[in-house]
Order: sequence, then C-alpha cells, then structure tokens
Amino acid sequence: MNTTDLVAKLTARLGPKGVLTDAAALSPYLTEWRGKFSGRTPVAALPQSTAEAADVVRICVESGASITTQGGNTGLVGGQIPDGEVLVSLKRMNRIREIDADNDSLIAEAGCVLAGVQQAAADSDRLFPLSLASEGSATIGGLISTNAGGVHVLRYGMMRELVLGIEAVLPDGRVLNGLKALRKDNTGYDLKQLFIGAEGTLGIVTAATLKLFPRPRAREVALLGVEGPRPALALLHRVKAMTGAVSAFEVMNRLSVDLVVQNVPNMRDPLPGAPFMVLIEFEAAHAEGLRDAIEHALAGALEAGEAQTALIAENASQARDFWRVREAISAGHKPEGAQANHDVSVPVSKTPDFLARTDAAMQARCPGVRIVAFGHMGDGNFHYSAMQPIGMAPDAFPGAALTQTVYDVAASFGGSISAEHGIGVARKADLVRFKDAESLSLMRTLKHALDPMNVMNPRALLTTEV
Ligand SMILES: Cc1cc2nc3c(=O)[nH]c(=O)nc-3n(C[C@H](O)[C@H](O)[C@H](O)COP(=O)(O)OP(=O)(O)OC[C@H]3O[C@@H](n4cnc5c(N)ncnc54)[C@H](O)[C@@H]3O)c2cc1C
Repeated sequence: MNTTDLVAKLTARLGPKGVLTDAAALSPYLTEWRGKFSGRTPVAALPQSTAEAADVVRICVESGASITTQGGNTGLVGGQIPDGEVLVSLKRMNRIREIDADNDSLIAEAGCVLAGVQQAAADSDRLFPLSLASEGSATIGGLISTNAGGVHVLRYGMMRELVLGIEAVLPDGRVLNGLKALRKDNTGYDLKQLFIGAEGTLGIVTAATLKLFPRPRAREVALLGVEGPRPALALLHRVKAMTGAVSAFEVMNRLSVDLVVQNVPNMRDPLPGAPFMVLIEFEAAHAEGLRDAIEHALAGALEAGEAQTALIAENASQARDFWRVREAISAGHKPEGAQANHDVSVPVSKTPDFLARTDAAMQARCPGVRIVAFGHMGDGNFHYSAMQPIGMAPDAFPGAALTQTVYDVAASFGGSISAEHGIGVARKADLVRFKDAESLSLMRTLKHALDPMNVMNPRALLTTEV
C-alpha cells in the first residue's frame, strides 16, 4: 500500500474535511473509552454519502488496503479499533432520511446516534425501543453490526428484530440497496441479516430501515429485594403473567450495589440488606389499571415469599434514581483492581442454576474471589465479573482461568460466551473453542464468498489465523 497515493485519492474524493491523517485528529478514533484497546492507522476516511463510502472502499481495494469501520467507538470488544487498516468512520452520515409514521418505520443513516433516533421517533409520536447506557454515543451502524441488546429486549427483541432493511457497501465497493420497509417479504435469503451482528466483517452498513412502535403512555418502575436468583425467576414469570406489561427485568447482586455506593459519588443503597435486587420496568398504552395490576402482582410475590421488599417509584424522579443504581454498576466495580468481566447468556430457566454453579466453581478456583453479577436476567443474560480477593496482588489474580470457568459453565447449560457485546478482537480465541465446528466453518465460507480479499475488519470476529 502506497500511503501517500492512498491519502491523495481519498482526499480527491472526500475533500480535506473527509480525510484525517494528523495524529491529534486521529487520536480519539484510536483508543476506546476504557483504554483497553488502542490502535493505529495511516488515515481515517469520513464519507458523507453512500456513494462516497462506496468509492472509499474501491480506492482502498485498488490500493491493497484493508478497512476497519467505526461508528460511535463504544464497542466493548475492540472490533472498531484499527491496527494499521484504513479507518472508515460513519460519523458524517448522520441524517434521518425518512419517517413513515403510518408504516411505523424510519430510515436512518449509519452514523445517526441512537438517542437522536429515539428522539426522531418520539417527535412522530412513535417509539424506537432499543435502549442502552451508551445511547448518547452509539450509532445505528454499530448497533446493527454488534446486534445490540440493552434493557428492553424482553419486550421488543434485539437489534436484529428491529431492522426491516439495510443498505451496505460490499467489500468490492458495490452497494446492496436493501432499504425495504416491509414486514413481510419472502423472496429468498434474508440478506440484511448477514450484516446484523457481522461486526463490520462483511461490509459497511450505510443506512437502515428501523421498526417503530406505538409510544407507551404509562410507565412504572419497581425495585424489589429478593433472597436470590431462584425467587427472582418465579417473580419474573409472575409479573409477566399478571401485568402483561414488563419491558425490563434487571437484577443486581448485593456486592454490585455495595460497590456503587462505595465508589460512585452521590449514590445511596435503595434497599439496604437485600441480598439480591430486581428492577422491573412496566410499559402500557395507558395508565388505567396498570398500577393496580402491578400492586396486585407484587403483593402476590411478597405473600409467596418471592420478594421480601417492594418499592414502586412514586414519580419519574424516583424511577430515575432506581435506574441510576443499575446503570452505575460498571463504574462501581471498575476501581476494584484486577478483574475478569463476562457477558454470558443461558436459557432463562437455567439462570439460578447457572449463577449457583458458576459462583461455586469460581470460589473453588480462587478462594475469596469477589463476584459482581448483574444485568438482563429476563433475557437470561448476566454481566458477570470476578474481582481479585481483597489483599491479593493483581498479578496473582487468575483472570484467564476464571474466564474459562465462566464460559465452561455457561456452555454446559447450552449458553453463549457473548450475549450482546460481540466477539471483536477480544474473544476470537474463545469463539473457536465454544462455537460448534459446523457453524464456524459456515461463517468462514460466507466471509470468504463475500470478502475473498479479507478487506473488511480483517482482525475482528473471524480471522484466517484462528
Ligand atoms: C456504557 C456502555 C454500556 C453498554 N451497554 C450495552 C448494552 O446494554 N447492550 C449492548 O448490546 N451493548 C452495550 N454496550 C456496547 C456498545 O454500545 C455496542 O456495542 C454498540 O452497539 C456499538 O455501537 P458504536 O456505534 O459505538 O460502534 P463501534 O464501537 O464504533 O463499533 C462496534 C463494531 O461495529 C462495527 N461497525 C460500526 N459501525 C459500522 C458500520 N456502519 N458498518 C459496519 N460495521 C460497523 C465496528 O467495526 C465494530 O466491530 C455498551 C457500551 C457502553 C460503553
């Protein structure tokens, strides 16, 4: 690759504002927010249209350069950070192209930030339900490419279920125009699904048609203290059956809340002494009857011993306070020294057994290890972090071995080693170990068929050397 020639061609096509080579200008694109991954690139290209993005790909292919695509740089597994590839940022492709409220759909360019898409939907009296803590920075292209989940999967599904159509630049520069807005289209392979969760390895997503929903007029939030995951599971099914309105069911173990109170300013324990906490959000088309149904369900849960304490937020500000505790958990345990963090899923029915077996296996492998377990139990998905025992030297912490233990237990329950964050560069070796051989082989076949030159995100997800 002749870098000077490449930069000249990109600049001729995109103009000086569309090309970055200066170290200071590139720096925010080359490190992710936690400092876990950092990289390098000779040049970043920032196309403003699909035609420009297609030409960027063609120029890179002609120059023998490969590409790493980036959206909001909030990914947690390092797939968006280049290591010598050309960085293609979709940041400047950030227009909402169309809202069709009668079709409950919206077309957004890949660089649109999620919070902006939620707002555009709300402005048309509709809901775009994807919601996660990074929604002020994560982009539609990144959310599609990682098949993001978040807190409302229980009711609305993951990104995969929220996309009606995709426009993408293929690894040879052709454009796939799949911006359909149809609920029904049985005309062969569902090609858009290839790009959802592909982590940028099959092409650059440039725009998508997204599904919208009626905006719920009533929302309630409850926080419950429970003895542990087994009663929490019974509680989940009780509130689902008795209200029909559960939109989030999040759990937090005791240590996760203790560390929030200890390490995050201005936080207090909402349920002191509760061994396990459940945060439930309810949504309905109207307020009538919702509060009664929730109170009835929670009274039943208290009577059945599924919960020991139940608080229903009295207003939006109290609801926000409940959510703030849940959202602060990652910040709460970050300062606690050496740790191994995981994003695993098992069938919902297996969640109590998974936690019990994993906790026991972790203590056996590393006595005194501290466990923060929290997340989307309603989807069978835990963020499960093991932290060094108090007093242990960080170097002595057997993080890698504990990770294998967590993955082994999840696999023994038919689970996944990556529920919603993806594989990126961080979990490639684990993918090879835990994905079945036929699926891996088919993934490689698809990658080779679409991208024989290995142009797109060559180091993420699947590589030739793993
Ligand atoms: C505080 C915090 C909380 C989070 N909570 C959740 C959560 O609850 N659930 C969840 O699922 N995730 C969560 N995430 C992870 C993260 O927000 C998602 O991975 C997000 O989908 C990435 O979007 P992005 O625009 O930042 O993409 P980036 O980080 O820029 O890229 C992510 C991946 O997508 C590829 N990519 C990006 N844009 C494109 C494109 N246009 N075409 C092709 N490939 C592309 C990149 O190459 C990379 O492999 C959280 C992250 C943070 C920081």
